[in-house]
Amino acid sequence: MSKQASNSKPQVRAPRVSHESRPFWDATAEGKLLVKKCNACGENHFYPRPFCPFCFSDDTEFLTCSGRGVIYTYSVTRRTSEPWAIAYVTLEEGPTMMTNIIDCDFDALSIGQAVEVAFVDTGEGNALPFFRPV
Ligand SMILES: [Zn+2]
Repeated sequence: MSKQASNSKPQVRAPRVSHESRPFWDATAEGKLLVKKCNACGENHFYPRPFCPFCFSDDTEFLTCSGRGVIYTYSVTRRTSEPWAIAYVTLEEGPTMMTNIIDCDFDALSIGQAVEVAFVDTGEGNALPFFRPV
């Protein structure tokens, strides 16, 4: 099996932005990754929503993340001309988010691997938070 690495930026579509998610998407344009923090129970969560999924409190606020995390699980798709990796990444702040792993050797990915956020510009005023190995 040949090693396949991708350094090309993937083609991405701009997200559908809702009232609740607008601060999250606006922050991506500034290179910041946000999650929500619940002031009632102290848990962090992703994706952004008006109520805490743990205790249903509406006393939540956005928290800027470090951008660092580890791969919880991943899958590499090779049936296209350009392979790509979809993954769940667990952030240092706690939440696990679905994302893509880019700028990597797809044969060298592993569960527990350290990654950092790498924003890919959508061309529409925001960016998708993908990750790459540290
Ligand atoms: Zn809560």
